[in-house]
Formats: sequence, C-alpha cells, structure tokens
Amino acid sequence: MAKKPKIGVFKLTGCAGCQMEIFRMEDEFLDLIKLFDISYWKMAKRDNDDKDLDIALIEGGISTPWEIEEIKCIRKNTKFLVAFGDCAIGGCIPSIRNWIPQMESEEIVYPDPSKICSTKVHGIGEYVKVDAELKGCPPHRKTILELLKSALLKIRPRLRQHPVCVECKFQGNACLITSNKLPCMGPVISGGCGAICPTLGRICEGCFGPMSNPNASALANIFRDIGLNDEDIKRKFRKYSGMSPEFRLEAGH
Ligand code: SF4
Ligand code: SF4
Ligand code: SF4
Repeated sequence: MAKKPKIGVFKLTGCAGCQMEIFRMEDEFLDLIKLFDISYWKMAKRDNDDKDLDIALIEGGISTPWEIEEIKCIRKNTKFLVAFGDCAIGGCIPSIRNWIPQMESEEIVYPDPSKICSTKVHGIGEYVKVDAELKGCPPHRKTILELLKSALLKIRPRLRQHPVCVECKFQGNACLITSNKLPCMGPVISGGCGAICPTLGRICEGCFGPMSNPNASALANIFRDIGLNDEDIKRKFRKYSGMSPEFRLEAGH
C-alpha cells in the first residue's frame, strides 16, 4: 500500500477557528484519517512528529520573534506549506493592532507589558515561501477539502478568484449597496463562502480577504457616496486584510 502523505497542522497567532473548521468536516473526517497520516496536530493528538511533512497547514500569523523561528523551522521540514486562513495569509484580525504604536497596544492588553516581547503582526509569507493560500476566517470546509483532494491527486487546487458578489447573485439577492445604500465589501472580497452574510441580509465584512485584482479605490468611492467618512472607510479595509497589498492604500498606509 502506498505511503500516506504526512500532514502537520500548526497554530501561530490566531484564534484556533481555522483548526476547528477541520473538526467540523464531520462527514469527511474519518476518510481524511484513512487517507492522510496526521502526524502533527497538537489540538487533536498527544504524540506529535513534525519531521519530513508532505503538507503543513499553518493557522495564524507571526507576532513574536519565536514564531519567526518556528515558521522557518516548519518550512525546512515541509514539502508543501499552506497559509491556512486569513491570519496566516496577512495577519487578519490580530493585525488591527499594527495601526497603533506597539507599546500602546501592549499597555492596553497587559497589566505589565515589560514581560511581553511581540512584533508587528504579519502573515507567514513575510518570512518564508508559501506554496498555497486557503482564504477565509476561517476557510470554508469545501476549500480545505479541495486542497487536500488536489494534494492526493497531485494537481493544482481549484480555488475561487471571483468576488462574493458573484455568489450573491447566484443566491438571487438584491444588492445591499444599490438597494439599501449599505457598505458591503462583497465587490472586492474573494468568494468561497457562498455569500452567507448578504443572503442573511447583512453586509459582507470581508472575512475571505481580497479577491484577485480588486478595484478597492472604486469601492472606497462608492462608500464615500453613500455617506461613510474617510476614517470609516479605513476601518473597513483594515478589519481583515489591512496589511494586504490589495487594500493597503484604502487602509491608510
Ligand atoms: S483566520 Fe480567523 S478563524 Fe482563522 S485563526 Fe485567524 S481569526 Fe481565527
Ligand atoms: S449585497 Fe454585497 S455581495 Fe451582494 S451583490 Fe451587493 S455588494 Fe455584492
Ligand atoms: S459574506 Fe463576506 S463576511 Fe460573510 S462569510 Fe462571506 S466573505 Fe465573510
């Protein structure tokens, strides 16, 4: 029998929600265990081996000097490194603190910041080569399966590049921007969630990160037209992906 691919699941600075999404693949989880050797996953098992991995799923961004060393070490031991979720791709929610001085953010959170040694929050791609990105906060189960299936078949995963708006139209929704003048991020955000929020009557907040080649400045102008001020607009672009090259300008870099 062919050797099963070895997978490691690692957590850096994130909330563990991406790992929980793997647990939520209830219908497929037993098959995954049959097909893959999950050799490192501290959230799920006691004995862990992080050597000679075929695939590493990295949840979380980098926010300490130790994590910089850790991601370099994982990279050395891994053939195919995946930025698993928005924190690993670009820092996501934890990166909001990059917009105020480092010392100030530490003083807000910790009673004695002298014991804290943290850095600005960045995605893992700032420090190591990344082979694939699974967008989302957290990524949708279907995209995790697509990536793992492609790894087994040794083909390129088919991950969506179109905006949330396309999925929103497939759902038959009236547009919240044009109908209700609400500041929906859908036109610049990567699809993959099935437009969950607009389908429930709520604006897209942007949790899947920038789509391929988004026109962020045009959306910022639309937000201005419907009454948002410059600070509101910056906050919207900072929320999940303010460090991304696609949104940096609108986020206020
Ligand atoms: S991407 Fe979202 S769900 Fe995943 S670790 Fe970061 S904050 Fe949590
Ligand atoms: S509601 Fe949002 S996601 Fe849906 S079409 Fe309008 S802008 Fe796009
Ligand atoms: S609609 Fe937007 S905020 Fe809601 S899950 Fe999808 S990408 Fe995230």
